[in-house]
Amino acid sequence: STQEKTPQICVVGSGPAGFYTAQHLLKHPQAHVDIYEKQPVPFGLVRFGVAPDHPEVKNVINTFTQTAHSGRCAFWGNVEVGRDVTVPELREAYHAVVLSYGAEDHRALEIPGEELPGVCSARAFVGWYNGLPENQELEPDLSCDTAVILGQGNVALDVARILLTPPEHLERTDITKAALGVLRQSRVKTVWLVGRRGPLQVAFTIKELREMIQLPGARPILDPVDFLGLQDKIKEVPRPRKRLTELLLRTATEKPGLEEAARQASASRAWGLRFFRSPQQVLPSPDGRRAAGVRLAVTRLEGVDEATRAVPTGDMEDLPCGLVLSSIGYKSRPVDPSVPFDSKLGVIPNVEGRVMDVPGLYCSGWVKRGPTGVIATTMTDSFLTGQMLLQDLKAGLLPSGPRPGYAAIQALLSSRGVRPVSFSEWEKLDAEEVARGQGTGKPREKLVDPQEMLRLLGH
Ligand code: FAD
Repeated sequence: STQEKTPQICVVGSGPAGFYTAQHLLKHPQAHVDIYEKQPVPFGLVRFGVAPDHPEVKNVINTFTQTAHSGRCAFWGNVEVGRDVTVPELREAYHAVVLSYGAEDHRALEIPGEELPGVCSARAFVGWYNGLPENQELEPDLSCDTAVILGQGNVALDVARILLTPPEHLERTDITKAALGVLRQSRVKTVWLVGRRGPLQVAFTIKELREMIQLPGARPILDPVDFLGLQDKIKEVPRPRKRLTELLLRTATEKPGLEEAARQASASRAWGLRFFRSPQQVLPSPDGRRAAGVRLAVTRLEGVDEATRAVPTGDMEDLPCGLVLSSIGYKSRPVDPSVPFDSKLGVIPNVEGRVMDVPGLYCSGWVKRGPTGVIATTMTDSFLTGQMLLQDLKAGLLPSGPRPGYAAIQALLSSRGVRPVSFSEWEKLDAEEVARGQGTGKPREKLVDPQEMLRLLGH
């Protein structure tokens, strides 16, 4: 029968990993792929992570939408795996299950004072301005004049840029109305990005740096001392890193031209990279009620290349600020007790996407590799997982005989009172968001309340 020939596969998570894995699996002429997503809406960090002022990055949504339109693919939002349905239940219903659920946590600083009001994770801040439902209550206090971001990666730079961009430049993006309102009232004038290591170890690209350097109304603050001796070292580093470091070096040490000098002199806001500083404590205000600064240990580098480590010199420095954003990385959570999880590395142990010791279970994206890499990296990695799965299918390593797929899961979900959101229902929400944005010239005004989304769909 045709059913016997139809491999039923499901993917957990609808970010780039989920969609790219599905896209590859659909190369099999009969495979059917269901994508389960805990949010009522698809696309993961493309919707809830990528900065609102980088709309071109979100064009991948068009490819994902094409995949979702395939007659052999279905999207089921509003279904949280591990809560609404378990991984063993999915494994019963499908020939194979791919876990692509990303990295939903942030790495903690693990220093005293971290719990003070005025401290939050960059993850939560990003979720807040991008409309992630769980972060809508964040209400960051931007009444202070200095913010400190702990971390020097691309997420740290996104956050610094959003804090310092003149709000009128964000008006025509898909940033939420609430976040834009708070940013309009912001008094933040200076943003420090603090890193334990030096200029050669920053984890952003030259494009992202250039954007910061050219940010309207803001000037860079770099300490030339941090760049001593770097001129010689950069000769040995790979070209992209070399160009990035040269730009940092020029910005730190060269006198700007007349025009740029005038621009900088009139800038009311500033951002700076603070190198060789490791956070030790968030300092409380005199009344102990909120964050008032960060105590930093001065460091120096030991070791070479990949093994370069920051070790404390014994000197300390206090950096006063009213807002502390920790941006030292995302972290995956275990999804279900039946799935092996390496809590140290924060990934599902796997060999090329095959989950160790669990036949028929696969993983892709950040939960497979750890929370680094751009969408393109995630794509390559997800195609590879898809390829391994199809190979196993061909080799007869997956269960033979028909599997019920969604029919069985639908029955379970309905008995538990869970009502999934289909892709065509998402398209209704999408149209609503676009319509709400139209009056104000925004590409969309995101719906941020899952209850409202479900109400709009008549659930
Ligand atoms: P995710 O995109 O996180 O997708 C995981 C999905 O799984 C989510 O939709 C989540 O809701 C869902 N999920 C989680 N748990 C469950 C569960 N239990 N049941 C069901 N579903 C679940 N890359 C670029 O190329 N350009 C950029 O400009 C860029 N900017 C970024 C900005 C930020 C702030 C961040 C954090 C990342 C950025 N990236 C960027 C990187 C890019 O977002 C990632 O490479 C990519 O999103 C990883 O894909 P993923 O599918 O593994 O994870």
